[in-house]
Amino acid sequence: MSLETADSPLVELKNVYKYHYSKELETAAINGIDLRIQSGEFVAIMGPSGSGKSTLLNLIGMIDRPSRGHYFFQGQLTNQLVKKELAILRKNNIGFVFQSFNLIDELTAAENVELPLIYLRIPASQRKKRVQQALAELEMSHRMNHYPQQLSGGQQQRIAIARTIVTEPSLILADEPTGNLDSEHGKIVMDKLAYFHQRGATIIMVTHSSRDAARAQRTIELFDGTTIIPEADFLAS
Ligand code: ADP
Ligand code: MG
Repeated sequence: MSLETADSPLVELKNVYKYHYSKELETAAINGIDLRIQSGEFVAIMGPSGSGKSTLLNLIGMIDRPSRGHYFFQGQLTNQLVKKELAILRKNNIGFVFQSFNLIDELTAAENVELPLIYLRIPASQRKKRVQQALAELEMSHRMNHYPQQLSGGQQQRIAIARTIVTEPSLILADEPTGNLDSEHGKIVMDKLAYFHQRGATIIMVTHSSRDAARAQRTIELFDGTTIIPEADFLAS
C-alpha cells in the first residue's frame, strides 16, 4: 500500500508506542506519540534524560520499529515493510549524526566519508569527487588524510557530518550533535546544519541546548515518552 501524495508529511507518527524489554523490566520509552513533520522543516526535540528522545529518533530513522501504532514515511506505512525494505528506504533518504561522532578509527577522514557511497554502490569514479565536495562544504579538505584520533572533537563531528551529507539525504537526524563539543565548535556544527537546512534538507535534532534549539523552526518537548503540547497549539486546535 502506498498512499504517497504531494502533501503527505515527510514523517507521520500515529499513536506510536515503543517498549524496551530487559529481564523482567518493561519500559515504555515512547508512550503514545502523534507527530507530523513536513519536508523542509528544522525541528528540535528537547526533554530530560530518559524521556525517549533517542528512541524517538531511532523510530523515525527506522533503526527501530514501533511496538504499537503507525509510522508513515513519505506517506508510506512502514509497519508492514520487511527489514531489508526499511534498510533501503533508510539508506536512500536518511542520514544520522551522533553525539559521539562514530567515525571508524582505522580509516582516514576521506575514507570515512566515502564509506556510505560504497554501501550505495556508487562507482569509484564518482566517489572521489563527491567526497572532496562534502569535505569542502564542511571546510575539512585540509584534513582529508588525517585519522579521527588526529582531529579535535569539533573536526571529527564535521567529518561525521560530511559522511552524512555525502549521500544527499532528504532527512538528517542528529542526536545531541553538539553534546560533546565546546560552544565554539558547537556553533560551527550548528551553522553547518543550518546551511544544509537552507539547501532543502529536513532536520530533526535532539538537543539539551536551548541555544541550539533556537536555530530550529519549532521545538517538540518530550516527557516520559509523550509530547508536551505547547499551550498556544493546544488553544489553537
Ligand atoms: P533519552 O534519549 O531521552 O535520554 P532514551 O530514548 O535513550 O531517552 O530512553 C528512554 C527510556 O527507555 C529510558 O528509560 C531508557 O532507560 C529506556 N531504554 C532506552 N533504550 C533501551 C534499551 N535498549 N533497553 C532497555 N531500555 C531502554
Ligand atoms: Mg538520548
